[in-house]
Amino acid sequence: MEFDKAREIFGMYVFDRRAMKERLPQHIFEALMASIEGGQKLDSAMADMVAAAMKEWALSKGATHWTHWFHPRTEMTAEKHMSFMSKDESGMPIESFKGKELIQSEPDASSLPSGGIRSTFEARGYSAWDPSSPAFIMMSKKGGTLCIPSVFISYDGTPLDLKTPLLKAVDAVETRSMRLLKLFGNRGIKWAHVTVGAEQEYFLVDSAVAKNRLDIRYCGRTILGCPPPKGQQMEDHYFGSIPARVLSFMEDVERDLYRLGVVITTRHNEVAPCQFEFAPQFADANLACDQNQQIMDVMRKMARRHDFQLLLHEKPFAGLNGSGKHVNFSIMDSEGRNLLKPSSNHRKNIQFLTFLSALLLGVSKFHSLLRAAIASPGNMHRLGGNEAPPAIMSAYLGSTLTGILEAVEKGLPDDMPAQALIDLGMNKLPSVMADNSDRNRTAPLAFTGNKFEFRAPGAPQSIAGPLTMMLAAWAWGLETVGDMIESRVGEVDALDAALEAIKFAAAESRAFRFEGNAYSPQWHEEAKKRGLTIVNSTPEALALFLLPENRELLSKLHIMTDREVIAYYEIRLEQYIKTVEIEMGVLRTMIWEGILPALSKQILLESSALSALPEDARKEACSWSACIGRLGSLKTSLISASEKLEALREKMHALDTEERAAAITEEGLPLYAQIRQICDTAESLVAGDIWPYPTYTKLLSIS
Ligand code: ADP
Ligand code: MG
Repeated sequence: MEFDKAREIFGMYVFDRRAMKERLPQHIFEALMASIEGGQKLDSAMADMVAAAMKEWALSKGATHWTHWFHPRTEMTAEKHMSFMSKDESGMPIESFKGKELIQSEPDASSLPSGGIRSTFEARGYSAWDPSSPAFIMMSKKGGTLCIPSVFISYDGTPLDLKTPLLKAVDAVETRSMRLLKLFGNRGIKWAHVTVGAEQEYFLVDSAVAKNRLDIRYCGRTILGCPPPKGQQMEDHYFGSIPARVLSFMEDVERDLYRLGVVITTRHNEVAPCQFEFAPQFADANLACDQNQQIMDVMRKMARRHDFQLLLHEKPFAGLNGSGKHVNFSIMDSEGRNLLKPSSNHRKNIQFLTFLSALLLGVSKFHSLLRAAIASPGNMHRLGGNEAPPAIMSAYLGSTLTGILEAVEKGLPDDMPAQALIDLGMNKLPSVMADNSDRNRTAPLAFTGNKFEFRAPGAPQSIAGPLTMMLAAWAWGLETVGDMIESRVGEVDALDAALEAIKFAAAESRAFRFEGNAYSPQWHEEAKKRGLTIVNSTPEALALFLLPENRELLSKLHIMTDREVIAYYEIRLEQYIKTVEIEMGVLRTMIWEGILPALSKQILLESSALSALPEDARKEACSWSACIGRLGSLKTSLISASEKLEALREKMHALDTEERAAAITEEGLPLYAQIRQICDTAESLVAGDIWPYPTYTKLLSIS
């Protein structure tokens, strides 16, 4: 798109600061800004005026409806559209939208998961306007809907969404960062904001092909399929030239996102065939979370318009790379300084090391929480797949930074700590980091020069969950480090006190830091020796939420109460069970409707070809008979394996949630793998025109 055109449409569907200033009386605008920045409440008269301006703005853009747009614990967003239209007393149509509707709404959201927090008789949930993320219009073919970003809570105020804990975790980090900044003697800094940029990986397949695959339609991934002869072996797709049809999709996505004020800075091919990536310009955490949801939504809708099916699943194709969401994060102060950026100024560099150490301290102590945060039914297939982050959490810093932390840990000379750090290359850090950081892409958490990148979240996940847990750990680290420094100032200089805290954090986080190849089997052994948490299945990983130290962390920081943590765990476990159960049902249908009949057809075909042979030739064609025999025994084993699957499905009805999760994991998944192997062998033996489902080769070729 031409630059001028992009500039013209940029943010046109966002009720941003510019639109507010244009449409609100000065004093209301200022009150609203104060409420966004300082959390002051807007009174109802003011809310009415904001609502009126928002309504006029939305109508002028063609919107017909409004909705509170919130993030229930489903990883997606929810919306209940309300019409602006109503009738006045004389029966005449008027457009109405009141301040109280802007501030609070009451969607009858009783079907959204609450993990038992809402009993059905008090099923109502309330959504409340979150003014820190601007309202926007989601345009549709015949109009548009004004979306008001909101939090979602139960009748007694208990959060039911992913947004409220995120806002609390962001606040926990920001207040503790401000305290550290003060301890370092920074004056005049008004705020520190967590910044986030989430890279989004995805697959595109042709919808005409995908519609013939029940698994893609209902599970978002293939549950069967032989590897294609040419997958990603040649590594010729990554960063290759983008196919014209895909580029056209990307341009349309970007244009719609510009209108929503979201800038996509990077677009490229990813490693697997038909795999691509978008990366947006980073924003404040809360907004970045909303924007990632908008990106996924626009992509989904645009894919349909381009006759593609968008796959956001973590592992749509066995044997090919899966898709993740790399969550990049840092913290920025009101002077625009990135606090995770090394500096050539000595004081600022120790400050940088302190923020970094606080994160390392937190994540090494609470790494099991990070593991729990990224556990999902789909991510189980991706993690540890020799191309994706392993299921063991660790951090990679690069050799320069590791060298510095090791030296600080050993102890710098008391009289000249500053000089010792400079000798270690501390003053050269900014340039060294820019050139050398992030050569190792195997660690789940990596320092990438001026920010951290959490690579383990799955592509369809909301970033809110993983980010909340990451920030909780960081907040704890910042508090611990802050306490250490505060207790020493007076006795020693703040910088020396900080170095002591860094030394402590370096020692405490040693086991969590790993610079080697985290995909290697040796790391597994090594991590075990280091006492790191290693769990492979999703239920085991989710159970880590329930560890007393994790629950205590979240409740002490007021991010989630104990009851909420348990509810969150239950919701995610149920999600796991339901997903696998749906997959089992789809598998069953694909077997009985497609694969068994295909095997019969092939057997019939081979048998009639064999019987058509002259008697002499038939005797010699023993390999033909062997082939028919093989097809027959595949069919027999497939029937027996799918009967076992049926029996398991039956048995599961009588089990409680945790027992079901265990049965699925321990009995279902191995059975599943066995069935897949039979089906994939069958695929390789059955004629292409008899095989009922489009193959990987067909799915993975878009022109
Ligand atoms: P890579 O693929 O090398 O990790 P990309 O350019 O694809 O890098 O993506 C980097 C992401 O990190 C972008 O979304 C970018 O906006 C984000 N990012 C950059 N700086 C920061 C920062 N200070 N805080 C948060 N996110 C950042
Ligand atoms: Mg990337």
